[in-house]
Amino acid sequence: MNLDRFSLKGKVAVVTGANTGLGQGVAIAMAEAGADIVGVGRSDMSETEAAVKAQGVRFLPVLADLLSIEPIDRILKEALDAFGKIDILVNNAGIIRREDAIDYSVEDWDDILNTNLRTLFFLSQAAAKQFRKQNTPGKIINIASMLSYQGGIRVPAYTASKSGVLGLTRALANEWAKFGINVNGIAPGYMVTNNTKALRDDPQRSAAILDRIPAGKWGEPADIGGAAVFLASAAADYVHGFTLAVDGGWLAR
Ligand code: NAP
Repeated sequence: MNLDRFSLKGKVAVVTGANTGLGQGVAIAMAEAGADIVGVGRSDMSETEAAVKAQGVRFLPVLADLLSIEPIDRILKEALDAFGKIDILVNNAGIIRREDAIDYSVEDWDDILNTNLRTLFFLSQAAAKQFRKQNTPGKIINIASMLSYQGGIRVPAYTASKSGVLGLTRALANEWAKFGINVNGIAPGYMVTNNTKALRDDPQRSAAILDRIPAGKWGEPADIGGAAVFLASAAADYVHGFTLAVDGGWLAR
């Protein structure tokens, strides 16, 4: 097979939550594969910017708070002003808050659903409209979770949002595959990022999780890079609506 089909050379990838964790891992992997990167987030992205530029591609930071959908038009405008087009959207930004379901607050519920699902949908919609306007194919990759498949413990809003991400990935693929837009997901297992700090700081939970991972180790941000590059590339042109687990075998247990 011609490995050029896995290349992202000349593509422009918008990655949300690109300053740290999995978003940073995806941005760097896509840069290694040749894509220019638009990093979208609310925190300083200079670390990611340096790592991306070290690959000889361009990086545009767009500061935006994705708790609301208000910045979406500006995100697209800044990306288009800089690069003239977009080819790939990675909906990675997400939050988690832990509390017993019986005590879960409306504020936490709304913040999580707004960030993890509402913004993800409307940013996807904006990207899809742009792909159609450009008359180009497009790739949308949604970051799901093990809690797209399982109930989880003390994270009801997160589970609801990530189960929603899995369903929405299928729903959007159904409608947009005919436009040459691939909508797929990646379901990371237990990865070493800020998202899982509380779990890793709890010796009992941490040991129980590790014991259940067939690979015998937590994942690192770089571990989802290969799946992200594949799903963003021409090699995945006929892959629609599927969420690929990168989980050290967790779901196989
Ligand atoms: P992380 O280090 O906490 O990263 C989350 C990213 O989302 C950060 O860049 C964060 O920015 C950004 N973000 C959150 N709220 C935002 C907002 N209102 N506006 C703009 N950006 C915002 O954790 P991570 O593990 O890399 O998480 C990335 C994605 O993977 C999330 O969707 C998460 O649910 C998912 N995931 C993670 C795991 C895991 O084991 N780590 C497993 C399954 C799925 P700040 O740095 O400014 O907060």
